[in-house]
Amino acid sequence: MSVDVATSAEQDWMAQAIDLATTNVAAGGGPFGALVVRDGEVIATGTNKVTVDLDPTAHAEVTAIRNACRALGTFKLDGCVLVTSCEPCPMCLASALWARVDRVLFAADRDDAADAGFDDRAFYDVFEDSGTASPAPVDRVVMPNRNAAFDAWRGKTDRIDY
Ligand SMILES: [Zn+2]
Repeated sequence: MSVDVATSAEQDWMAQAIDLATTNVAAGGGPFGALVVRDGEVIATGTNKVTVDLDPTAHAEVTAIRNACRALGTFKLDGCVLVTSCEPCPMCLASALWARVDRVLFAADRDDAADAGFDDRAFYDVFEDSGTASPAPVDRVVMPNRNAAFDAWRGKTDRIDY
């Protein structure tokens, strides 16, 4: 899980991500920054905008992924590396998987984030430790037509798979 010997390019990208994160604090955002890199080139950057945009999903990684997709005109980031100042939280890791990035690099980890008052580690525990209950209960509602939307999707011949 850790890269002991990062290339100098990887170290440069990470230095940029940490600079973004640090500068973002003075700008009123959270202390997180991220880049999307493809073929050695920075395609897009992102900073945490949760409190600025009143958007709990506006983590640096999600913001960088959104900006990269807009820049490239696609919803797939295969061939890209997500470089983030801190280990992605479960939402951001899932976002990176949905974006199909090739690789994720981070510097600070979930314990560092916890020390700074963030819930990354607590949320990981919900997913990784079956003994930790979700703070928000997730319950199923039994519906006879629960697959109606999937049936419509399977029947749509011109759908765009993702
Ligand atoms: Zn996140």
